Amino acid sequence: MRQEKNPFISIVLPVYNESAGIGETLTVLANYVRARPERYELIFVNDGSTDDSADQIRAAMAKNPAIRLVDFSRNFGHQLAITAGIRYASGDAVVVMDADLQDPPRVIPEMLARWREGYDVVYGKRRKRSGETWFKKLTAEMFYRLLKAVTSINIPVDTGDFRLMDRRVVNVLKQMNEQDPYVRGMVTWVGYKQIAVEYDRQEREAGETHYPLRKMLHLAMDGITSFSTVPLTLASWLSGFFLIIAVALFGLSLALGHLTSLTWVMIITLLVGAGITFTIGMLGTYIARMFAESRHRPLYIVADTYGFKTQTTQQTS
Ligand code: UDP
Ligand code: MG
Repeated sequence: MRQEKNPFISIVLPVYNESAGIGETLTVLANYVRARPERYELIFVNDGSTDDSADQIRAAMAKNPAIRLVDFSRNFGHQLAITAGIRYASGDAVVVMDADLQDPPRVIPEMLARWREGYDVVYGKRRKRSGETWFKKLTAEMFYRLLKAVTSINIPVDTGDFRLMDRRVVNVLKQMNEQDPYVRGMVTWVGYKQIAVEYDRQEREAGETHYPLRKMLHLAMDGITSFSTVPLTLASWLSGFFLIIAVALFGLSLALGHLTSLTWVMIITLLVGAGITFTIGMLGTYIARMFAESRHRPLYIVADTYGFKTQTTQQTS
């Protein structure tokens, strides 16, 4: 149980060309904050919008001291906007949500309740997604299952970036300096106690999605390449496959008493192929190790220590 009487909560919202809907978001959030007992800061990260989104946020700041704005020099992408917002947040807990009201603020009190019970990450799990095309839903569904199959960490399915994180999770994330961050995967990777709350994802309030197929594929690749080295080991599997075919071909020809020069050519070709793919597979294995090293992730994260004379303050190493 968390005891803080009057917690300070940061809400992080990435914004990219949300001119049509940002006014509504600002109003809804201001009302939400006014009605709640916790103290809040609203951190908007303007990810290089070319419309007046930032102006609207600045105008609202004049009336609402809880609003903060981080203004990017250009469009760096949704995941980096979230990363920046998390770094600027000073709350005891940090909530990340879309700036288009697809993630309803009314779910936040539910997240806070789980957080008070002692959970460190409370992620929003989409029960249904209204107003999204069957194509988006199908591809998202397929992607989350593929990701689950090729990664060793258990990234929850059907969750986006709408989530609440405790300060100690945020502190670890701040140390993870990844070039192409896949934030939801990183949050899972951090560990601690995590739980889902289900919610109905709303239709976009205004404007349209900034996730065309191209960006979705990019995000999907980031998810796979930052948490899985399975693609790098594909060559090794191919090598084994070639070898098995070569041996089977040899055995079959012997059994049939029909080992012609053509069969020999095929067997030798397969063996050469197996050799080449094996070598590529070995390279892949080393590259995977170098890749893991180059990310400089903490080796492990200690949640607590018990029985030591001096309490360690170092949380990660
Ligand atoms: N966004 C961003 N930078 C981008 C694309 C999107 O900051 O390059 C923001 C966008 O304003 C929104 C959130 O990220 O607040 C999610 O984007 P969007 O709603 O377009 O994605 P969807 O909900 O359709 O998956
Ligand atoms: Mg959205």
